[in-house]
Amino acid sequence: MDFVTLGELLIDMLPAETGRRLAQVSAFSPKPGGAPANVAVAGARLGAQTAFIGKVGDDFFGQALADVLKKENVDTRGLRFDADARTTMALIAQPTPHSNEYIFYRNPGADQRLRPDELDRDLLTHTRALHIGSLSLSDEPSRSATFEAARIARSAGARISFDVNFRPALWRSPEEAVTQIAAMLPNADLLKVNETELELLTRTSDVETGSALLLARGPQLVVVTLGAEGSFFRAAQSSGYVKSFQVDAIDSTGCGDSFVGALLTQLVQFGLENIESHIQAALRFANAAGAITSTRRGAIPALPTAQQVDEFLKKSAPHSGVSADA
Ligand code: ADP
Repeated sequence: MDFVTLGELLIDMLPAETGRRLAQVSAFSPKPGGAPANVAVAGARLGAQTAFIGKVGDDFFGQALADVLKKENVDTRGLRFDADARTTMALIAQPTPHSNEYIFYRNPGADQRLRPDELDRDLLTHTRALHIGSLSLSDEPSRSATFEAARIARSAGARISFDVNFRPALWRSPEEAVTQIAAMLPNADLLKVNETELELLTRTSDVETGSALLLARGPQLVVVTLGAEGSFFRAAQSSGYVKSFQVDAIDSTGCGDSFVGALLTQLVQFGLENIESHIQAALRFANAAGAITSTRRGAIPALPTAQQVDEFLKKSAPHSGVSADA
């Protein structure tokens, strides 16, 4: 495998209209969701060989989600079905263009019940990278399963990619989230945060200072996503901003997952040994994937193919910019 993702595969209940709070939304429609699952699909659309490890309920939603992944050429041999818990649902509202409200129906949801003994070891020992997030760290047994998967994959030579993807509603307290996320950092080779998460973990909103603090905690590469501005990276020898592209953005859902899927696909393709020599090209490609996703509604339907990113990059080349410090 080029990369395996592990974590939540769930139903996003999208609101019929924006501009309303959760309790005022008139109707919700079910769509496939879950950041690690989106990342696996993003990679597959871009030509990477990807697989997903996680758990859904043995119910209509769980079966439908498994079918979505199969249709997208994501290997599902590591997907488990829970007879005793439902597929997790997230009800979402967008009261203002820049804020979301969530309620997760997950008490517990099937995704939280993935156990270490259910992990597909063969997949984890035959992949070049394993990508995880923090939702699977919020409760047991999926927390232990996530740490165990990282241990197995790392011992077999895989790189670990970690997107913090902090969802405050899923944690008993922000302190507990910080503790669990911090415990994962030494296992991560590639760490992705957005500006909110940078501040949560380092207590500084300064990208340069915060990324240096995070790099000192273990990862080989720290990437900070900056929405329409693009991204910033820090590695041992180099750091810098890589600008995104000007687009008519309509929906930021899935941008981060599209970005990570594209970044991993590029890094695996170029080689994970010497990431610094090609990080800027990889981030430019990942910014393009994220930018395209922002112009389309939803998460999975908005993920571009390799051909779409290549065409976008050809069209956009003169306006893009890279500024990196040596
Ligand atoms: P997250 O907060 O989940 O990390 P972002 O919203 O920062 O995700 O988006 C990830 C990446 O997608 C950004 O770093 C950027 O490269 C690209 N992107 C997102 N929104 C836009 C936009 N409006 N215009 C251009 N690029 C965008």
